[in-house]
Amino acid sequence: MSASNQNITSVLKETRVFPPAAAFASAAHVPSPAEADRLRAWAESDPDAFWAEQAKMLDWFKPWTQVLDWSNAPHAKWFVGAQLNVAHNCLDRHLTNGRADKPAIIWEGEPGDTRTLTYKQLHAEVSRFANALKGMGVGKGDRVTIYMPMVPEAAIAMLACARIGATHSVVFGGFSADAVADRNNDAKSKVIITADGGYRRGKVVPLKANVDAALEKSPSVEKCVVLNRCNSPVTMKPGRDIWWHDAVLSADADCPAEPLDSEHPLFILYTSGSTGKPKGVLHTTGGYLLGAALTHKWVFDIKENDVYWCTADVGWVTGHSYIVYGPLANGATTVMFEGAPNHPKEDRFWEIIEKYKVSVFYTAPTAIRAFIKWGDQWPKGHDLSSLRLLGSVGEPINPEAWMWYHEVIGGGRCPIVDTWWQTETGAIMIAPLPGATPTKPGSATKPLPGISAEVVDKQGNPVPANAGGFLVVKQPWPSMMRTIYGDDERYKATYWSNYPGIYFTADGARRDDDGYIWVMGRVDDVLNVSGHRLSTMEVESALVNHPKVAESAVVGRPDDLKGEAICCFVTLKQGHAPTDELKAELKAHVAKEIGALARPDDIRFSETLPKTRSGKIMRRLLRDIAAGKQSTQDTTTLEDYGVLAKLREDEE
Ligand code: ATP
Ligand code: MG
Repeated sequence: MSASNQNITSVLKETRVFPPAAAFASAAHVPSPAEADRLRAWAESDPDAFWAEQAKMLDWFKPWTQVLDWSNAPHAKWFVGAQLNVAHNCLDRHLTNGRADKPAIIWEGEPGDTRTLTYKQLHAEVSRFANALKGMGVGKGDRVTIYMPMVPEAAIAMLACARIGATHSVVFGGFSADAVADRNNDAKSKVIITADGGYRRGKVVPLKANVDAALEKSPSVEKCVVLNRCNSPVTMKPGRDIWWHDAVLSADADCPAEPLDSEHPLFILYTSGSTGKPKGVLHTTGGYLLGAALTHKWVFDIKENDVYWCTADVGWVTGHSYIVYGPLANGATTVMFEGAPNHPKEDRFWEIIEKYKVSVFYTAPTAIRAFIKWGDQWPKGHDLSSLRLLGSVGEPINPEAWMWYHEVIGGGRCPIVDTWWQTETGAIMIAPLPGATPTKPGSATKPLPGISAEVVDKQGNPVPANAGGFLVVKQPWPSMMRTIYGDDERYKATYWSNYPGIYFTADGARRDDDGYIWVMGRVDDVLNVSGHRLSTMEVESALVNHPKVAESAVVGRPDDLKGEAICCFVTLKQGHAPTDELKAELKAHVAKEIGALARPDDIRFSETLPKTRSGKIMRRLLRDIAAGKQSTQDTTTLEDYGVLAKLREDEE
C-alpha cells in the first residue's frame, strides 16, 4: 500500500452540476458558500479556536487545558484533561432539553415487528444494562465484544459500555466463529454480548452457536450475555452464559454516567478487509464524538423533526457514527432496520421510507446499484415524498448511479451528499455541505471545514488540477484514529510512513478546476496500462453508464505488451442477455466514453461480484481470477464464498 512513483491518469469526464435549491439552502445549518468558506478559513488559520468552538456542541464535565497535543505524533490527544461521557451526551442531556419523549430509535425487524424507544426509555434501558455489565465485573477500560443482529439492544449495549467506560468491539453479525474468536483475542475481551440469532432473508442466523465455537478459542472471555431475539434453541453454559432478560431483571435503573477522560478508549473496530487483514482501529471519547456529532449535523443538515435512516449495520463504522453516536448526540430520531433490502420483496426500503416518513436517507453505492438492477418499478410503487436529503458512503458512486438516485429516489429535489471517509477517520471528511456546496455526480466535493485533505504526488506536493494523485490529510483532526489496537508500529507503518507527518489514506483521487475531489478508489486497485495508471472506478463508471449494465468490477491482468490488460466483470440489468455482441458493444462504449487507452481487453459477464460483508467489491480476489491463479488471500470478510467458485467455473 505505498504511493507509487507515477501519478494516476484521470479519464472520467463528468460535467453536470447541481446547485442547492434556494429554499433548502436558506434553512440549512451551513446556508451559503460564503459561510462554508468562512468556516474553512477559520479552521485553517486557527484550528485550536475553531475546534474549541465546535466542541461546545457537546456537554463536558470538565474543561480541557489544551485543544490538541500533537507532541507524540502520530498519536494525537484532543481536548487534553477534559472529561465527558458519550452516553450522557447521547441520552441524559436530552431528558432535560425537551426531547425526553421524542423517539430516539425507531426499529423494524425483518419479520415486520417494530419498536420505538424514546430518549427516556432508551436512557433507562442503557442504565439498567450498564449496571448489569458492572454486576458481571465489567469496569472502566475492560473490552467487551458485541456480536448482535440489528436490534435496539445492539445500540443499548454500545451505549452501556460507553456509560461505564468499557471499550466495545462490535463484530458484524454476519461474520464466522473464527472471525469472532480472532477479534476477541486481539482485543482480549472480557465479556461478549450476543443473541440466540438474528433474521436474514427469512432464516435465523445462529449467532449463539457461532459464539459457542468462538469461545472455545477465546480464553479472555469470562461471560456471555444472550439476548432472546428469535426464540431459537441455544445451549447455555452454566456460570458463563446469562440471558439478557435475566441480567437486567435485578439491575438498578440508576447508573450515573462515568466521567471519562477525553482520550479514554471508546471503541475498537476492525476495518472491512477490502485490501487485506482487518486492522483494529482505536477511537477515543471526546474527539470521536465531536467528529460524529458535528458531521452528522452539517452533512445531513439534521433538524429537530427529521426522521433519519442510515441503512448500514452497526458492525461497520458507518453504523457506529451515523446510526448510534452522531444522531443520538444530536437528539435526532434514528431508524434501525434488521433485514435485507430485498426481503420479502425488492421494495422493502421504499416501504420503510413511506411508513415512517423518512426525511434523510443514507445508504451505499452497492445498494443503489442493486436497486437499479432490480428495476424502477419497486421505488415507483411507493410514496417517497417525505425524503429531503440523500447520502452515499462506502465506495465511489458511479455518476450514472448518482443520477438514478437523484431522479428515481430523490424525485430530482433532494441534494445528494456523497461522503468520503474511513473507519480510521471516525467521521465524514469530504462531502458536500448540502446548503452550500453545488454537487457533481461522482464527486464527494470538498473537504469539510477543519479537514485538510489534499491530493498530492509521490513527493507530497499538490498535483495540478485534473491530474490524479494520492489522497492525504495534512493536519490532525479530532475524530482521527489513535492507533491500531495493540500495534503502534503497524499504525505508523500503514498510515504515516509514506509521507512523514501526513496521514496517508491509501486512496487515489483527482482535484478538478473547481477544487472538487474525485475519489478514484484504492491505490492498490489502480491499473497500469501502457504506462498509464488508470483508476478502476473510472472504467467501471463508463461501463455502468451503458444502459444494460448494472454493476461492474475492473481489474488488471498481467500482460506482456501493455503491462496490464483491462479485465472487466460485468453484471447486467434484469432482462438483458450476455452475448458476444454485447461484449463488443461494451468495449466500444468504454473506448468512446473515456478514450481508446481504457478500452477493455476482456469482458466477463457475472451474476454477482465478490464483495465484503459491507458490500464493497473485493477487486483483489478478482485479480487472481483474471490472472487464472489460485488465491492465497485472506477471504474472511468475503460475503458469499459461492461467488468465487462460480466465477472460477465460468472461467473454465
Ligand atoms: P480495509 O482497510 O480493511 O481494506 P476498507 O478500506 O474497505 O477495508 P472502510 O474503512 O470501511 O474499510 O472503508 C473506507 C474506504 O472506503 C475508503 O478508504 C475508500 O476506499 C472507500 N470509500 C468510502 N466512502 C467513499 C466515497 N464516498 N467515495 C469513494 N470511496 C469511498
Ligand atoms: Mg481501508
